[in-house]
Amino acid sequence: MWLEMRGVERRFGRTVAVSGLDLTLPQGAIGCLLGPSGCGKTTALRCVAGFEPVDSGEIFARGRLLSSRDVTAPPATRNIGMVFQDYALFPHLTVLDNVAFGLHRDARAARERRALEMLALVRLEDCRARYPHEISGGQQQRVALARALAPQPDLVLLDEPFSNLDIDLRGRLSLEVREILKQVNATALLVTHDQNEAFAMADLVGVMQNGRLEQWDAPYDLYHRPATRFVADFIGQGVFLPGEVLSAGTVGTELGVLAGDVPAAFRPGDRIDLLLRPDDVLYDETSPLTLQVTQKAFRGADFLYTLALPSGAVLLTLVPSHFDHSLGDRIGVRIELDHIVAFPRGG
Ligand code: ATP
Repeated sequence: MWLEMRGVERRFGRTVAVSGLDLTLPQGAIGCLLGPSGCGKTTALRCVAGFEPVDSGEIFARGRLLSSRDVTAPPATRNIGMVFQDYALFPHLTVLDNVAFGLHRDARAARERRALEMLALVRLEDCRARYPHEISGGQQQRVALARALAPQPDLVLLDEPFSNLDIDLRGRLSLEVREILKQVNATALLVTHDQNEAFAMADLVGVMQNGRLEQWDAPYDLYHRPATRFVADFIGQGVFLPGEVLSAGTVGTELGVLAGDVPAAFRPGDRIDLLLRPDDVLYDETSPLTLQVTQKAFRGADFLYTLALPSGAVLLTLVPSHFDHSLGDRIGVRIELDHIVAFPRGG
C-alpha cells in the first residue's frame, strides 16, 4: 500500500483527537477524511504530514515508516506536498516563482521548465507573471496545487482546500482538482466536512466521529451500505422507520411488508430501524399507498417532498419538479428496496 495508517492515536491532554485509526490508500487513489467539526480529521492529516507526532500506531508511505511512538520523520523529509485552505502562496513572488519555490535543488532552467509544465497542467500559464493578489481565489488554489505537485511528491495532502471559495466554484474546482491529480497519478488525502466535495473528489472516503474512523469505503458503499448508524445519518438524506424482521427477505412496517435482503446479523422477530433514502421511495401515481405532503423543497430538477405517515413518522421522496403538488395533497408512492439497511431499534 502506498499510504498505510495502523492504529494511529493522537491525544492532547485528556482529549483523544484520533483513536485507533486504520486506513490504506493505493497508489494513484484519492482518499478523503470526512466528518463534523472536531472529529479529528485535521489532526489525522497533520500526523501524516509530520506536523503532529503520534502517541501510538504507525504511518507508512511507500513502505517507509514516517511516524510511530518513537519516530517522527521531519515534514521536509517526507516527500509530501500540501495544499491548505488559505492557499498560503508567497505574496511577493510571481505565480511562476511560487510554483518553482519547492524545486530549489534543481538548476534554474530545469526549475522554470518544471514550473511552466505544472502551470500548464492547472491551465494557468497565462498568469505566470502575475502576483497572487492579481488572480482569483480559485486560481490561487490551482497555483497552490501546482506548487504542491511540482516536486513530484509521494503524497499530496489537501486540508479543506475549497472552504474559502463560494459554493459554485467549490463544485467546479473539486472536479477539476480531481482530474489534475488523476492526470499525474498522484496519491492524495483530503480533509473536508463537505460531503459533496468528498464524493466529487475521492475514490475512498472515511467518515470520522469522536476521533474514530467509522467506515473507510467507496462513496457508493458509504451511501448504500453504511456500516454504522452515524454514517447512515451523516451521509445523504433519509429517515429511520421502525420495523420487525419477518424473514431473510421481508420486514414488516407501518407501510406493510417490504421486500429486500435483510442483513445477515438480524433474525426473524428482531426489532429494527430501517433506513429509507429518498431514492427508495418512488413516486407512483397508480400506487395504492398514498401519503400526505407536509413539506416541499424545490431543488430545480426535482422536489424533495416530506410525506407524513399515520404514526407521525415521515418519509422523504424526490419527484421530478414538473409534478408540482401542494402541501396537504396526497401522492402515491411505492417503496423499492434492493437490500435493506437497518440497525437495532433505537440503538
Ligand atoms: P474542524 O473541522 O473544526 O477543523 P477536525 O475534525 O479537523 O475539526 P481536529 O482539529 O482534528 O478536528 O480536532 C480534534 C479534537 O482535538 C478537538 O476536540 C480539538 O479541540 C482537539 N485538538 C486539536 N488540536 C489540538 C491542540 N493543538 N491542542 C489541544 N487540543 C487539540
